Parts: sequence; C-alpha cells; structure tokens
Amino acid sequence: MSAANSTGLVVAARDVSMVYRSNHARPYLAVRGVTLEIAAGEMLGIVGESGSGKSTLALAIAGLAGRGGDAMPRICGGQLEVHGTRLRHVGRRARDRLTLQVGFLRQDAAERLSPLLTVAENVAEPIYQRDRRFSVREASDAVATVIDAVRLPLSLMNRLPYQLSSGQRQRVALARAIVLEPTLLVADEPTRGVDASVRDGVLDTLRDLHRDRGLTAIVVSSDLAVLSRIAPKLAVMQKGILVGLGDLDTLTTAPENEYLKGLARSRAALGSAKTEKFHG
Ligand code: ADP
Ligand code: MG
Repeated sequence: MSAANSTGLVVAARDVSMVYRSNHARPYLAVRGVTLEIAAGEMLGIVGESGSGKSTLALAIAGLAGRGGDAMPRICGGQLEVHGTRLRHVGRRARDRLTLQVGFLRQDAAERLSPLLTVAENVAEPIYQRDRRFSVREASDAVATVIDAVRLPLSLMNRLPYQLSSGQRQRVALARAIVLEPTLLVADEPTRGVDASVRDGVLDTLRDLHRDRGLTAIVVSSDLAVLSRIAPKLAVMQKGILVGLGDLDTLTTAPENEYLKGLARSRAALGSAKTEKFHG
C-alpha cells in the first residue's frame, strides 16, 4: 500500500462541501468548497474560530464522514482524496482500509479513554480491534514503543486514566492514536483540556513524532499560539470557508479579511509576549 497517491499527495481536497442533517431545521453546510493539498511528510495547522468547520473537515480527512448516522457530517460536494482513496461515496472496505492508516486524535480523545482499562490496555485496544488474535507479546512491545515515543514513563502502564494528570492523559490518547503506525495523523485540539504548564510539552511531542516518524500531520486548533509553535503552514477556516492558506508571514502581511486581521493582531501580541518573557 503506497503512502501517497501518484502525485505525492496524502490529502487532496477539491471543492469539498460537508453537511449535517441533524440538530438543524434544514441540512446545514458546515464546510463550503474547501480546496487544499497536503504532501507526504508535511505538517498543516488548521486554525479558525469555534464553529468554523475545523473538526468537521478533520473528521472527513480521518475517513469518518458519512459513518455513524446523522450525528456525523457527510461530504455532499467536491471530492476528498486521502492516500488515494476517494472518500465521497466510499465503500465500507475501502474506508476501513484507510482508517487503519490514519491516526485520529479526536477533540475529546482524552475524555474518551476507557476509565476501567489501564494505560497499556487503552493504548493496545486499537490493535485488538483490528485483529482479535494479535500476539500479546507483539502488542505489548508496540504499546511500550508508543508510550515511550510520547514521552510517558513506562511505570504508568498499569495506572488507570483517573490517576494521571491532564497532560499525561492526552499523551495516552496520542499513543493510542499512533499505535497502529499510521502514515497520517489528524490531531483535533490536541492541547484542549491540558494544563497550560504542560501544553508545550504535548506540542513538542507532536512535532517530534512528525519529524522522527516521518508522519504527515494535521493539527487543528482555535489557538494561534498553539499552531505557530509547531505548524509551518496554516489553513484558516471561517464559517466553513477556507479564507487563507500558507505560512503565517504570508497570511498576516496585508491581511484582507477580518479574521486574518485578527490573526495578525494576535500574532503581534504573541511576539511581544515572547519578547517580554525573553527580557524578563
Ligand atoms: P470547529 O471545530 O471549528 O469548532 P465544527 O466543525 O465542530 O467547528 O462545527 C462547524 C459547524 O457545524 C458549527 O456550526 C456546528 O454547530 C455544526 N455542527 C458540528 N457538529 C454538529 C453535529 N454533530 N450536528 C449538527 N451540527 C453540527
Ligand atoms: Mg472543533
């Protein structure tokens, strides 16, 4: 199975629109005509205010749109190709094959860890979901490898989620997302609910995983400070529309749109905060 299609792209979104059919009187277009490409080995940040469609797009890239009934969004326009799989009208088998290659850290992943399973069992779960008869020994090797990769001490393996700090729980969720050795990682709000003091540690871990494992990565956040730390290239969403794509310098030099102007201001504020820290 190749990591990318013949054009070397891991993600190719062409005029993708997405709709929700629940919770709204009429079908609700949450993503409107998004076109973007992500090459193998790239790290893309998706930024935008709450409700701008970031998670909806992330779900689609993770191969989950159109699955699980009306609570999930559907691709209703354009075409989204991930690892060469066309996801609009995708069949179940092709989708299952794809989801094994994509690690997805959901927005609420840390809260969704099973409270009754140990750290090691939580991380191993996707292995056994894929193959119930997988060798226990190989599984525990894989678990130890990813626990180490997310910089958790192996001594935490037998703890339960509630015995961990917020940052540790997020690392467990991250370990779980990469245990099947995905070639693409989609991390939705990876620092949400993580104490500010350990937030940068979680981000640095993501960056290291991207660098050391050659993972293509998409990191979603409404916080520019988070993304400017790790993502060289940003996609800016506003009300379901992609309003900017590029590096932060390009996006914030002579911004045309109101949201990008705001981004330029918060970037300036970030810059001066850094300078203050540096001098203080
Ligand atoms: P973001 O992640 O940028 O905060 P989302 O992608 O979660 O935004 O949401 C985009 C829009 O879709 C919002 O207006 C939101 O209310 C709507 N939406 C999100 N999830 C659902 C759902 N399960 N059912 C119906 N509408 C939804
Ligand atoms: Mg979201």
